[in-house]
Amino acid sequence: MRVYIKSEEGKIVVYDAVKNEKIKEFSDMAEAVKFAMENHYQLPAQAFNGEFVTDKEGNFVYVDDKGFFELADGTLLEGVKRCPKCGWIAYGEEVCDEDKQPRECFVCPKCGYVFDCTPAPDELPAED
Ligand SMILES: [Zn+2]
Repeated sequence: MRVYIKSEEGKIVVYDAVKNEKIKEFSDMAEAVKFAMENHYQLPAQAFNGEFVTDKEGNFVYVDDKGFFELADGTLLEGVKRCPKCGWIAYGEEVCDEDKQPRECFVCPKCGYVFDCTPAPDELPAED
C-alpha cells in the first residue's frame, strides 16, 4: 500500500495515499517512517534532503519496482527523470541555449537544474 506523511497541527500523520484517509498519528517523523516500514507501506520518493517528492500539482510521487516514477494510483509519469542535484523529479522541456537553439532538456522545478539536453552540445554540427 502506498502512503504519505503529512505534518498537521503539530502531529505527523500517515495517510493512505490512494484513499487520502488518515491511518495513524505520530508525534515525530521518525516514528511515522518506522511505522510505515514495519507495515511494508510504500513511502513517496525522497529527494536528497529527505523531503518527499511531489509532481507539479503537488501529488506525491512513488517509484515502482521497475524504477519508474508514478503517482499513488499507478499513473505513470512520463518524460521525467530524477534531478542529479537535488533528487527531485525533472521534466522534459524545450529550452533555448545561449545561441537561441531549442533543445530538449530535463528541467528540475525544484532547484532549476537543467540537464541531459538533446542534442548534447558536442552533437551539434560544428559551425565554421
Ligand atoms: Zn533539482
